[in-house]
Amino acid sequence: MNEVKSPKKPLIYYYGIVLLVLMVFNFLAMPWLAQRQIQAVDYNTFLTMLEDGDVGQIQLQEQENRLLFTNKEQTAVYKTALVGDPDLVERALDAGASLSGEEIQQSDPLLSFLLTWVLPIVIFVAIGQYMAKRIMKNAGGPNAMTFGKSSAKVYVKSSEGIKFSDVAGEDEAKDNLKEIVEYLHDPKKYQEIGASMPKGILLVGPPGTGKTMLAKAVAGEANVPFFSMSGSEFVEMFVGMGASKVRDLFRQAKEKAPCIVFIDEIDAIGKKRDGQLGGNDEREQTLNQLLTEMDGFEGNTGVIILAATNRPESLDPALTRPGRFDRRVPVELPDLKGREEILKVHAKKIRVDENVDFNKVARMASGASGAELANIVNEAALRAVRDGRRSASQADLEESIEVVIAGYQKKNAILTDEEKWTVAYHEIGHALVAAMQNHSAPVQKITIIPRTSGALGYTMQVEEGNHYLMSQAELENKIATLTGGRAAEELVFHSASTGASNDIEQATKLARAMIARYGMSKDFDMVALETVSNQYLGGDTSLACSAETAAAIDRQVISLVKEQHAKALQILQDNQEKLHELSKYLYEKETITGEEFMAILNR
Ligand code: ADP
Repeated sequence: MNEVKSPKKPLIYYYGIVLLVLMVFNFLAMPWLAQRQIQAVDYNTFLTMLEDGDVGQIQLQEQENRLLFTNKEQTAVYKTALVGDPDLVERALDAGASLSGEEIQQSDPLLSFLLTWVLPIVIFVAIGQYMAKRIMKNAGGPNAMTFGKSSAKVYVKSSEGIKFSDVAGEDEAKDNLKEIVEYLHDPKKYQEIGASMPKGILLVGPPGTGKTMLAKAVAGEANVPFFSMSGSEFVEMFVGMGASKVRDLFRQAKEKAPCIVFIDEIDAIGKKRDGQLGGNDEREQTLNQLLTEMDGFEGNTGVIILAATNRPESLDPALTRPGRFDRRVPVELPDLKGREEILKVHAKKIRVDENVDFNKVARMASGASGAELANIVNEAALRAVRDGRRSASQADLEESIEVVIAGYQKKNAILTDEEKWTVAYHEIGHALVAAMQNHSAPVQKITIIPRTSGALGYTMQVEEGNHYLMSQAELENKIATLTGGRAAEELVFHSASTGASNDIEQATKLARAMIARYGMSKDFDMVALETVSNQYLGGDTSLACSAETAAAIDRQVISLVKEQHAKALQILQDNQEKLHELSKYLYEKETITGEEFMAILNR
């Protein structure tokens, strides 16, 4: 898709060439050409011609010590050495030649006109043409010489041929978009009844969930041209370019209607205009132009604009009002079924063993986006090749999930014996606390092989099915499980290590959300004390309460975590025997499965 452009030379480079050519021409070629017109003769010849009345004009050039003269008709110029001839003037006057102070025209006036005026212009134009051709070639299209035109990539008839069947999961989004496809197929059906299609559709969701793919699939299904442009491409180096690009994009689109215009990352231009001083004028102009264009065409021209963003909350309200991007299609992270389907779609592109359990892989990869799942399948294929196998196996897929989550295994990371024991107890602490509580996901795997992400080991818990809601008890158990690692260390070694930093971070985040957002505290009831600023990009939060309340929240968070930590300690204390037995087993084997774990636990 990305054409490779040869690096552009700066304009000054071309001006330099033109100037050089002209200078060479003027300083060398012109005098040389002029010189060639003058014939050198000896003084005798001059005298003879003078006597014969064949000389028209004479000019003395004393400084150069030469004498120029023409023939009678003044069509040819001759030169000869200036000898000290005292009678020269008299002789010349007698012969009827004119002694002129003016310069003798050294060449044909027509020729010199051509040389001094016409030729440089011709050279100039030729170089201009050459430059234009080069730039056009660089930009790869006949439109490229026109500054400020949109560089939207057009996939006429959706050359990539992506169909809805290529986009797995996302059924609601597909259903929503099918209407658009139908409209593009048969607009009359809609026009007859007087219904007009929404002009703009906003695809919102986290990165890598297939928004771009869906837009392409709409074009692919409807078999219409697909214009694609990223929001950031509108805002370029030159002021005013963005607006003109928008204008041009819409002009092109209207010519090709019915068609799909896709604007990726629309938040780059569609951010709220906040009226701050020193705001980005260029962006605002571009946005204004976009708003104007969207108002400018009727609902039934057949141009449908799809736009994608991860930050719908930051969009300008003018952009999302009815008549513009009035329809919003959420493209969320896939659920279990969706993940399984996405894995299957991508697994078709590689060779996999027949007995691969995609459902299990999908369960393990909970929370992964479509792009991550595609990556997992590819990692599995790479792993199979690395190990010299001809197809990817279940183990490859499972290992590649861990690679995507935690990085590669650090084969030569050397832990001291004590560290290894600590990690083993830490992980079993997590697993045991999880297993001894009611509402925890079953343990799938425990490992103490260090990973490149810095994790020294981890416990993988896998949910059985989809999980949309979490109860207070589940959340509390989760916090207890997170504190279980540290609790085990305390119980066995009577000391703390740095290994729990990630657990602490997660436990605190959960506890804070419970109190400030989910209304799960005694004191605050159902008051929102925290707001999520961008839910699709990491979900950063900001407090919206007084300093006193903030302090009270902190106290509650601390007491909640403390409570769960104490609970975890209690669980481990009650099961000390199992803790030692399991940790020893893990220490020896380094990686154990959930079944092995449960077998020992239930023995
Ligand atoms: P977005 O635009 O939402 O950031 P993309 O549409 O660019 O995501 O998706 C990136 C890649 O992830 C796609 O090329 C595809 O390989 C994979 N992918 C994402 N979602 C899906 C899906 N639902 N089905 C199949 N593949 C998907």
